[in-house]
Amino acid sequence: MRSLDPVSPAILSRVMKPARYTGHEWNSVVKNSSAVTVNFALAMPDVYEVGMSNLGLKILYQILNDRPDTFAERVYAPWVDMEAEMRNAGILLYTLETKRPVAECDIIGFSLQYELSYSNVLNMLDLAGIPVLAAKRGEEHPLVVCGGPCAFNAEPMADFVDFFILGEAEEVISEVAAAIADWKQAGKPGGKPAVLKQLAKLQGIYVPGFYEVEYHDDGQAAGIRPLMPEAKPVISKRVIKDLDAVTFATKPIVPFIEIVHDRIMLELFRGCTRGCRFCQAGILYRPVRERKMETLINYVQELVDNTGYNEISLVSLSSADYSCLSPLIKQLIARFKQQGVSVSLPSLRIDSFSIDLAKQVQQVRKSGLTFAPEAGTQRLRDVINKGVTEDDLTEAVSAAFKSGWSTIKLYFMIGLPTETDEDVAGIAVLAQRVSDLYKQITGRKGAKITVSVSSFVPKPHTAFQWFGQNSIEEIERKQKLLRSLIKDRSISLSWHDARTSFLEGVFARGDRRLGKVLLRAWQNGAKFDGWSEHFNYDVWMDAFAAEGLDPAVYASRNRELSEFLPWEHLSAGVDKSFLAREWQAAQNAAFTPDCRREQCGVCGVCQGLDVKIIDRGQA
Ligand code: SF4
Repeated sequence: MRSLDPVSPAILSRVMKPARYTGHEWNSVVKNSSAVTVNFALAMPDVYEVGMSNLGLKILYQILNDRPDTFAERVYAPWVDMEAEMRNAGILLYTLETKRPVAECDIIGFSLQYELSYSNVLNMLDLAGIPVLAAKRGEEHPLVVCGGPCAFNAEPMADFVDFFILGEAEEVISEVAAAIADWKQAGKPGGKPAVLKQLAKLQGIYVPGFYEVEYHDDGQAAGIRPLMPEAKPVISKRVIKDLDAVTFATKPIVPFIEIVHDRIMLELFRGCTRGCRFCQAGILYRPVRERKMETLINYVQELVDNTGYNEISLVSLSSADYSCLSPLIKQLIARFKQQGVSVSLPSLRIDSFSIDLAKQVQQVRKSGLTFAPEAGTQRLRDVINKGVTEDDLTEAVSAAFKSGWSTIKLYFMIGLPTETDEDVAGIAVLAQRVSDLYKQITGRKGAKITVSVSSFVPKPHTAFQWFGQNSIEEIERKQKLLRSLIKDRSISLSWHDARTSFLEGVFARGDRRLGKVLLRAWQNGAKFDGWSEHFNYDVWMDAFAAEGLDPAVYASRNRELSEFLPWEHLSAGVDKSFLAREWQAAQNAAFTPDCRREQCGVCGVCQGLDVKIIDRGQA
């Protein structure tokens, strides 16, 4: 085994947070890389603290390392200070476990969580000494795979990636490792094209190099054509039928420095069928599949034993919707309180929120509560199918104030389809009502209301995928309008940079031509675009101009229902006809009920992927 430590103490002493780069954390796995068949680098195109907090990668790390023939190591994007030191000293990007060059692995897998991390993928490949373009890579280079939510529109990254994984990877990642192991053991017959053909046969694997995009005369994508028999016309996502039957991350790595989610992450279930029309995760992770309560309690026992953490965070799309939440929390508190282990509920829906639950989990300290009305008026909440009313919010907030809470955070979006200035003003009205409620209930001032407003970005595979995103100017005008309407000093307002949301929107619904823009922007310095201190809008706009592409055509144009969408061959299992019906329902502000509790909306997932809702409360 080649074990080198490429980073000298002198270098580490000059960079921020050197523990990002040293490895050796508790529960990290070190194998003899020459004694296994497949060497896998699991990569996150973001800084260590973000990458280490990703639950999906923790699960895959455990699954891959449980295989005797595979060794999975980690790699994250070095922060700019470390990158400069590495480039200066000629140090190639290395794995944290054995400190060997990532380029020596058989495969490097990136998790694509958001579009603004794409430039970091290119930067990391380059720092690893690996050509960024798939077409320029030889047999000696690792295979590059990407997964995560952004893989559901793979096209902007198609030039850089050998294959993509669509959907939940617990099973397919092992199938991929097995296919690569077989190919290597057979002496790599046929080289990379042969193993990619093998992989393309697996459900959920998309090899972009096996397809050709066709364009109309005006430059719009017209279709995508498979170039060989192994390339399926439509690639369906992977979905785990029973979450209790697959490995969970019960032995996660415990970092030396604080990371974003520095606690036990307990995933209660996957999916959310409430059907908010803006929400991509709600579509990608359909249907709802809950874990058994006993399974979860056993996981927590293992996690407490294996990590020493004393805080459990319940992480699902809408944890308060877990059908056995109340008994689960009671049992967790009863069983682990002695050990000083606390439970936190990060995501609360207004309607299913129970102050009793919040009281149970916050017996000691009352931190702030967060609610997401998303829109300021009932009309707009109906358009997005949020399914909550102002009364729901009033009730929940009143109960919270009566129980001693005074800090409330409210999440909204601006730029939603059909939004008017009245809807924007509604945000200020709602926030004021919450502030007034505090005075009414407690008889004093002193509430702290934070209004956090993001700019809506239409995402592929949602009912709003046809909607033309608000321009930067329009978002900024709405931000100013809202600012002018908030007068009460107990309310503070924060918003996102409209320009980053615009770029996110361009890439979210982009096509394969954006690869050239991405390459050029990265060559001109784009990286860490999701970090405001590094985001350089002009570099991006120059890259679009140089490549002769108009970003507004991607982001701000309303698309016709009949139009070909660049992600149509990548299926989340939800029929386009269902999304079109929902888009129509949005125009009419018509409500679509939760398919888990009421009636099936025939979105296509359960029927098409032979999977069904698992609701433990109804079992
Ligand atoms: S097929 Fe029906 S039950 Fe299944 S997720 Fe879709 S709407 Fe819900």
